[in-house]
Amino acid sequence: MMNHDDFRKNAHQLVDWMADYFQEIEQYPAKSQAMPREIYNQLSDMPPLKGEPFELVFKDFLEKIIPGITHWQHPAFFAYFPANNSYPSVLAEMLTATLGAQCMSWETSPAAAELEEKVMEWLKQMMGLPSDWAGVIQDTASTATLCALLTAREKYSDYQINRQGFAAQRFRVYTSDQTHSSIEKAVKIAGLGSENLVKILSDENFAMRPEALDRAIQTDIASGYQPLCVVATLGTTSSTALDPLRPIGEICQKYGIFLHVDAAYAGTAALLPEKQTMLDGLELADTYLFNPHKWMFVNFDCTAYFVKDKEALLRTFEILPEYLKTSQDHQVNNYRDWGVPLGRRFRALKLWFVIRDFGLEGLQSKLREHLRLAQIFKNALVERADFEILAPVSLNLVCFRWIPQAGLSLEQLNEDNVQLLKALNQTGKVYLTHTKLDGIYTLRAVFGQTYVSEQHVRQFLELLLEMTERMG
Ligand SMILES: *Cc1c(COP(=O)(O)O)cnc(C)c1O
Repeated sequence: MMNHDDFRKNAHQLVDWMADYFQEIEQYPAKSQAMPREIYNQLSDMPPLKGEPFELVFKDFLEKIIPGITHWQHPAFFAYFPANNSYPSVLAEMLTATLGAQCMSWETSPAAAELEEKVMEWLKQMMGLPSDWAGVIQDTASTATLCALLTAREKYSDYQINRQGFAAQRFRVYTSDQTHSSIEKAVKIAGLGSENLVKILSDENFAMRPEALDRAIQTDIASGYQPLCVVATLGTTSSTALDPLRPIGEICQKYGIFLHVDAAYAGTAALLPEKQTMLDGLELADTYLFNPHKWMFVNFDCTAYFVKDKEALLRTFEILPEYLKTSQDHQVNNYRDWGVPLGRRFRALKLWFVIRDFGLEGLQSKLREHLRLAQIFKNALVERADFEILAPVSLNLVCFRWIPQAGLSLEQLNEDNVQLLKALNQTGKVYLTHTKLDGIYTLRAVFGQTYVSEQHVRQFLELLLEMTERMG
């Protein structure tokens, strides 16, 4: 077993490896080229009976684990949405792991609770969020959306379902047809029934149509359903479409419906004054989430969740067994009552480190650079007849497809783009993923990695054109 002196020596070595990794990351393939079971089959079938030297464990990490890692911090990682980190965030994670504190109650680490409260206030200020809302860090957007639906369910059943279970209510939840899968998951876990999730048709820009929402609600009321909650998305996963919050919020007010806003990816853009317009109408919402762990340079996991009605959140989750009672319960935030898990990691630290290291201006200039890179990529494709842009580029995601020649069928075009994506990812030089927009197989390129630069975009464009020339 590692002793104290070994720990010091190994930790120094690891930090050197970590610094080298960041420096040399472009030598790794952006997407792991491992085949299914390739890693599993290399791992020992028997757990060790006696402890092994750290050198051996680390050697196996380098030789057996690293080849099966997709390098999310590679600057040519254009897939999904980024889960970017940064130097200050990694350092904070090291400290969080070292302290190993359980931050479920104020008393279990007062600094963790109070720093969390403070950084949530900072985020509100930095992003122009409603100043009288309360904020808490959740592990993921999926969990935060579940919290929102559970709170909506409890608030609108007068906190009866928590106590008595479901009676005869037939609740409905509304979202756009572009919504993230975590919404349906939350609807299921909240016991509302996935059949009661109503997907509202989106418009030509993939944003929710408020009139269609209004009509769906009216139809449901006429059929005896109880409209419970609307989930609006800022920055849909397929194309970063922005649902119009104000008209949606006005409809929710008209019918007394809970409004939850999922801005998991795009929310970070609210740091930019020129992107504040997307939040117009947010004061009509009840809850709001965004993921600093996607585009704000904070390691996974860190979701910022803001609520208008703190009491409703607490009444939904509060539980106070004798062994958790403390004398300060009335003066402090016990974040265990603000969500699902009891035990909580000290996540506020990495957020604090990142905000202080970058500063608001540092964060803003990174984001502006990412928006600019997306425009460079988009403009390069717009000029060409053999590519098509498939959705408005509202932020730093470009949705596009290759058109090898005119007159091809939808099926043929889809198949050509499946092959193109596969070929690009097999080079290891870039990694991007796909979606479907109106039945069209769509390639997605997100320019949001912490250290992505114009040079990476240019190299990607070159690779793309080379590849299509060869395939076409
Ligand atoms: C990524 C994403 C989610 C899910 O985020 P997790 O934190 O992984 O649960 C939800 N909604 C949208 C719009 C997203 O982009």
